[in-house]
Amino acid sequence: MTTSRYRRILLKLSGEALMGERECGLDSEPVKRLAAEIVDLCRIGVEVGLVIGGGNIIRGAEKAAEGLDRVTSDHMGMLATVINALAMQDAIEHLGAPVRVMSALKINQVCEDYIRRRAIRHLEKGRVVIFAAGLGNPFFTTDSAASLRAIEIEADLLIKATKVDGVYTADPLKDPRAERLAYLTYDEALKRRIGVMDTTALVLCRDHHLPLRVMNVFEPGAIVRLVQGEAIGSLIETGKTRKAAEEKRD
Ligand code: UDP
Repeated sequence: MTTSRYRRILLKLSGEALMGERECGLDSEPVKRLAAEIVDLCRIGVEVGLVIGGGNIIRGAEKAAEGLDRVTSDHMGMLATVINALAMQDAIEHLGAPVRVMSALKINQVCEDYIRRRAIRHLEKGRVVIFAAGLGNPFFTTDSAASLRAIEIEADLLIKATKVDGVYTADPLKDPRAERLAYLTYDEALKRRIGVMDTTALVLCRDHHLPLRVMNVFEPGAIVRLVQGEAIGSLIETGKTRKAAEEKRD
């Protein structure tokens, strides 16, 4: 297998990726498939941090729209991400790879508390680290958690693996003329108000020069190919990161 182009990545999986054919909740088949891909990533030598959303179980804003208190519903959403993280931990462990769940909310009978230095130590030892419970605060999303954790652990790349295969000029489901953009800067992404990643997350990535790849989570093997250097999905970065990468290649 070709080795990884990156030293350390942060992979963000939407909760919906774990749903399979169900309307909500967890299906063991996609969990096992994604676990196998994550273990493949470890085999090609990349350190893997993982953030999994909770949208397959509860999204705070949706519950709030039904009348539930927003902070309570966000707490429920964060706990949903812990459920997903534990399922993924179990599946990765079954494949024989070392893995730890670290939570931003204190539930340390279930998993470790998030401590940055300890997370980095796990990664250096080749353990997959699953960052659960988002940022531990309401009114945020797991996209923001993924950006922040990626910056904290000094990841080389943030990968958002989601239900679309990149950033489009318009909604491809509504507009047949929509075209996929292979590359754009964060400022362009913010100007276009792209729906695939929230603004807080984009601004954090931009300000810290963290490149982001948006790709389809349902394409088997694509995450590994991307980490091996294949140009999959859309790349968003500041001009500065691109310049640095080009200089490194020369
Ligand atoms: N959430 C939160 N704070 C965070 C991260 C997540 O309150 O830092 C809650 C929020 O209610 C969110 C839910 O957890 O809707 C699940 O996360 P998200 O919607 O990002 O999941 P995804 O859409 O990626 O599956």
